[in-house]
Amino acid sequence: MSNSNRIFLSAPHMTGNEQTYIEKAFQSNWIAPLGPNVDQFEKDVADYINVKGSVAVSSGTAALHLALRLLDIRPGDRVFCSSFTFVATANPILYQGGVPVFIDSEPETWNMSPEALLTAFKEADKENMLPKAVVVVHLYGQSAKMDEIMTICNHYQVPVIEDSAESLGSLYKNKKSGSMGAFGIYSFNGNKIITTSGGGMLVSNDVKAIEKARFLATQARDKALHYQHSQIGYNYRMSNILAGMGIAQMKVIDERVSQKKAIFRRYCEQFEGMKGISFMPEADGTLHNRWLSTLTIDPGEYESSPEEIVLEMEKENIEARPLWKPLHLQPLFRNYRFYQHSEDYCICEGLYQSGICLPSGTGMSETDQQRVIRAFQSAVTLKVRKPMLRA
Ligand SMILES: *Cc1c(COP(=O)(O)O)cnc(C)c1O
Repeated sequence: MSNSNRIFLSAPHMTGNEQTYIEKAFQSNWIAPLGPNVDQFEKDVADYINVKGSVAVSSGTAALHLALRLLDIRPGDRVFCSSFTFVATANPILYQGGVPVFIDSEPETWNMSPEALLTAFKEADKENMLPKAVVVVHLYGQSAKMDEIMTICNHYQVPVIEDSAESLGSLYKNKKSGSMGAFGIYSFNGNKIITTSGGGMLVSNDVKAIEKARFLATQARDKALHYQHSQIGYNYRMSNILAGMGIAQMKVIDERVSQKKAIFRRYCEQFEGMKGISFMPEADGTLHNRWLSTLTIDPGEYESSPEEIVLEMEKENIEARPLWKPLHLQPLFRNYRFYQHSEDYCICEGLYQSGICLPSGTGMSETDQQRVIRAFQSAVTLKVRKPMLRA
């Protein structure tokens, strides 16, 4: 199969202006990490999100790790975390020796269930083992129910980290995703809504904490002419070249959100008449950036499983994929606790078993999207209903 007619899930989409900023870095020989592009990119993101501080790093995972370190997560400390997400959300908890406790989703946003969160808090309180942080994910660009979640976390005085890796440009009640918790993190990995090929950002209104993050991300070098270190540090900064890409990409973030939404609308229009196909909801009071267009397929109506559909579409050289496999079902996390939304039903497991992500790259042409639509329609097969037998 040739790569030329392949349709990717979410391919990087360049503006053409990235080269200008990269060229500047070359001309001034500012190739090393740090430099004017990094400063500019940090400022651009902070201004857009409307927060006071930001630090550009090598990945979203690194940003999450720094946030946990700043909140002083130590071996044995509990951290509550969304189960329905990519593994990068929880791995940094393990880097710190922390103990993740996974929280189910609720059906309106597919994100952290405030009900399950409250149950987890009550139990932890009884055990005298409150978590030191809560990591909330805004999956596929849909904001979690932040008011409810913040009320619970504020009551227990536990700080919130927003994993906004997939939700740059999304809004919750007119607030930018990532600006509501103690810390927010973004990813600029190649498949995200904007990209620096690889990169991330940690943001906060706590300017002191951001300064500390900057210090930790550059090997925690003390203020001394000789190289002196009194804490563990990391080499996590973003390079000045990649930050140049970020500057150009940030200029089109709102345009990218509109393009993602247009892609989503076309899928909705085309699949409107299909029984048992439900798109990920857009909750009241939120703006969903539709990073990926995702839907569930009612197993009562269709023969085909998400896996079969993904494989069928692959034959057409189209990259679709199942929804994230919940972390509490991963072998890596099998020894950790999980709190369900309701006693008899696990929401995120149900979503995982019935959902798929469709190609959503903003560089995808309408003709290509038509190809995806046709491939999807022929990949799903309706259940044959057996006629009722008469005596
Ligand atoms: C992509 C992603 C990350 C990690 O970002 P990287 O830049 O790839 O390290 C974290 N959380 C979620 C939900 C993601 O989708």
